[in-house]
This record gives sequence, structure tokens and C-alpha cells, in this order.
Amino acid sequence: MSFILDSKVNVDCPECRSRLTVTLRDIQQRRLVRCSRGHSIQLKEQGDGIRKVDRATEDLERSIRRLGGTIRLK
Ligand SMILES: [Zn+2]
Repeated sequence: MSFILDSKVNVDCPECRSRLTVTLRDIQQRRLVRCSRGHSIQLKEQGDGIRKVDRATEDLERSIRRLGGTIRLK
């Protein structure tokens, strides 16, 4: 797992449309979060996009390390 899972994304509450910020890790772990008005939202990933991005980022990190460099995308 790479640091990409710490990326923050905005989701809208399906009940009241208020916006809240979660991390990709929260979504991948299907955490239950609450919006500012107290509605529970079951996070779930659509498809396997996060895993793909995570894997691509790890590949990128590895490739750059192999070239003798370091990467700081944060
Ligand atoms: Zn809400």
C-alpha cells in the first residue's frame, strides 16, 4: 500500500448533500462516517479504482528508486 491511500477526497451525503472529506483509505476500508448533520454514510468503492491507482503509484515509486532517485508526491 502506498501513501496514495492518505489522499483526501470529498463525498456528498446522499441524504442532505452536505460535503465531507474522507481519505481513500476510509473508502477502501468501507468505514461508516457521519456528515455534519449526523446522517450515517457507508463508504464504498465503486469498482477497483483505488487499488489500481495504488498499484500504479507503487510501480512508479519502484521505477524511480531503481533509477537511483527518490520520489515525493506528497
Ligand atoms: Zn447528511
